[in-house]
Amino acid sequence: MIEKDVVIIGGGAAGLMCAIEAGKQGRTVTVIEHEEKIGKKVLISGGGRCNFTNKYSSHENFISQNPHFCKSALARYTPADFISLVEKYKIAYHEKKLGQLFCDGSSRQIVSMLENECKDANVEIITGSKVDDINVGERFVIKTSYGNYFALSLVIASGGVSIPKMGATDFGYRIAKQFNIKLTEILPGLVPLTLKEEEKEIFRQLSGVSIDSIVSCDNISFRENILFTHKGLSGPAILQISSYWKAGRSISINLLPGLNISEILYENSVSRIELVNLLSNYFPRRFAQIFCQVYFPSKSINQFSQKDLKSISEKIHNWIIFPSGTEGFGKAEVTLGGVYTNELSSKTLESKKVKGLYFIGEVVDVTGWLGGYNFQWAWASGFVAGQFV
Ligand SMILES: Cc1cc2nc3c(=O)[nH]c(=O)nc-3n(C[C@H](O)[C@H](O)[C@H](O)COP(=O)(O)OP(=O)(O)OC[C@H]3O[C@@H](n4cnc5c(N)ncnc54)[C@H](O)[C@@H]3O)c2cc1C
Repeated sequence: MIEKDVVIIGGGAAGLMCAIEAGKQGRTVTVIEHEEKIGKKVLISGGGRCNFTNKYSSHENFISQNPHFCKSALARYTPADFISLVEKYKIAYHEKKLGQLFCDGSSRQIVSMLENECKDANVEIITGSKVDDINVGERFVIKTSYGNYFALSLVIASGGVSIPKMGATDFGYRIAKQFNIKLTEILPGLVPLTLKEEEKEIFRQLSGVSIDSIVSCDNISFRENILFTHKGLSGPAILQISSYWKAGRSISINLLPGLNISEILYENSVSRIELVNLLSNYFPRRFAQIFCQVYFPSKSINQFSQKDLKSISEKIHNWIIFPSGTEGFGKAEVTLGGVYTNELSSKTLESKKVKGLYFIGEVVDVTGWLGGYNFQWAWASGFVAGQFV
């Protein structure tokens, strides 16, 4: 039996941050990671440059059954705190857009920084080790393929189920169930949407085309690019709205935000310019061609009735799509839902039912928007739990 104050399952963003903070508090800490390497998602994040935080993070950028739950942790460990850590390691970074901070170089720098901090805090990291069984008596007993541990505190930082080939498992949910801790429904989030067969056939010809749009679902809207794919729609605006979209519901796309196509059509209503050519002034030509082919066979603008012009404008500013589904957990950047927040203390992330058991990061029902928010939650929840374990 190996005795530790704290055992953390999962060597990802949240687990490592928790380990660093607990180690700094003088606790003896072991991180158990089943993959051969720690921080695999950090490595692939942000296209290899890790969008490590968002300067404007607030609870409003997170989805949870209890939207207030994340407030306390986010207030106690802010983007500025993580930025100062990044600056301490002289990691060069830049703001890409909308407060999203990326490394100038590689995401590897962030993993190395976390590894270094773990080393300074005397954290033991065991990789390639499987957890076979967990029990609790006076202490937690964690049986692993590396050895058996006794721990006063056990932290579940095993993430969500998105991208199983990167090591994601449902381990955290299984542990929650074992201890009778409630879960909310889990769904893929930040995920491409698929189209019905007929539309898929048509729009796959636009695969690779992107258009600056406002995408809305219920009362939520995001303005960024949409991207046509061979299965449907992706791009940042679609990924964002996918976390709000529910099966069977529609999304609305304003394909020309900031301009009024009615006015443009009206100004050209006596013109002999063909619709496809006029639209090509505002959209990629391929899109204008398919749009006309599907909805309004092209002819000169003066041949369209006022009613037609109104319909064209309606289609461009309020294109209604009924997605057939999503590309699922295999392609989702995050898992929506997880450990029900009412089961945890928002101050410490400790289970209300099982003393010494903590859940942090993506395994909890707190999911950020695209743009660095998910890491900010991982750092903040890890940091906070690290102070109490
Ligand atoms: C392609 C992609 C790009 C992303 N880009 C960004 C980005 O740029 N910015 C951003 O904010 N967010 C991004 N995210 C989301 C972000 O990566 C996650 O929200 C974040 O990593 C969650 O941190 P975590 O520590 O909770 O979980 P993870 O980082 O997933 O870590 C969980 C760890 O637990 C391990 N584990 C799982 N099961 C077990 C087990 N049974 N035993 C032991 N270990 C186990 C896993 O191998 C993993 O190392 C991206 C996600 C993906 C998939």
